[in-house]
Amino acid sequence: MTSNAREVVIDRNGGPETMYVRRRRLGQPAAGQLLLRQTAIGLNFVDIYFRRGEKPVPSFPFVNGFEGVGVVEQAGAGTSFLSGDRVAYLLEPGSYASHRLLPAHRAIRLPGWLSDVEAAAVLLKGLTADYLVHTIHHVSRDDVVLVHAAAGGVGSFLCQWTRHLGARVFGTVGTEAKRERALSLGCEAVFVTAAGDWLSKFMEATSGSGATIIYDGVGRDTFLKSLAALAVRGKLMAFGSASGNPEPLDIALLNEKSVTIANPGVQHFIHERDELDRRVSRLFVALEIGTLSLPTVTRFALDDAASAHRALEGRVTTGSVVLIP
Ligand code: NDP
Repeated sequence: MTSNAREVVIDRNGGPETMYVRRRRLGQPAAGQLLLRQTAIGLNFVDIYFRRGEKPVPSFPFVNGFEGVGVVEQAGAGTSFLSGDRVAYLLEPGSYASHRLLPAHRAIRLPGWLSDVEAAAVLLKGLTADYLVHTIHHVSRDDVVLVHAAAGGVGSFLCQWTRHLGARVFGTVGTEAKRERALSLGCEAVFVTAAGDWLSKFMEATSGSGATIIYDGVGRDTFLKSLAALAVRGKLMAFGSASGNPEPLDIALLNEKSVTIANPGVQHFIHERDELDRRVSRLFVALEIGTLSLPTVTRFALDDAASAHRALEGRVTTGSVVLIP
């Protein structure tokens, strides 16, 4: 069997207008590969870094996207999958496509209660929240947490999980419209960054002591203020840069309050299959028993991936964005 795949590609870095649809015939899956008919594709802010050139693409033409869900159309030799199996994957480039070949050892089987769109909405963002709250720093009731972009994809999970672990949780959002959403995710108070005075309001709310841990996926616009918002011995998880990379920092600044800054990447926390499986099962249990609620999902057609990029980049989405082939 061969499949005629529709893919969204770029030939150069640039704005959303650089993305276009092409057709390509896929061959048979080789040994150890699966041919997938994709049903839902998770959009992530990292896709925007690759499109804009802030992260280098391996070569052009480049099919963006790192996360997807689909049905096995054909399994190559030596795999334990059958035609018709539903699987998801993450961190395998090339997910903006109707069909694709996938190394079978990267496939994750999905429970029946999770729909394809839901799976595409939760996997990469949920596993990111998982290592941030359970591994790099184990959040507890002793923590005062500040989550930037609290109503966003990763932010929605961070708020709920840290609250569940007993911490006091505060959030920032870009607009008043997102405030209610972040409050519903467990934040004690949510500050609107557009108002400009979130730092003083946050310090006041914590009686001047600041945050023991800050999750900052915004980067340039929040970084220095995040540093100021840390408690003595606090930790800043600088895990993303939606507003651009922060300026270089004089390391002596960290000594003023004995603070720690980490710049971690999810790829280093799911590299081994055992660790990936453990994190996936913890995420699925948390969703099944309601520790985490399923995110709001904004859907776009795969062919309209450019509009999806504009929406995510334009800060108008909350929760997750999913492309439908
Ligand atoms: P989000 O849904 O959180 O979207 C990004 C949000 O960032 C926006 O909604 C917006 O929220 C906020 N933001 C602030 N300033 C800007 C700006 N100038 N342009 C665009 N957005 C801005 O995206 P994701 O959940 O996909 O990713 C969140 C962050 O997590 C990203 O930085 C991403 O790179 C990072 N990430 C890191 C991983 C890791 O392991 N290191 C893994 C996965 C994601 P608001 O308007 O409310 O401020």
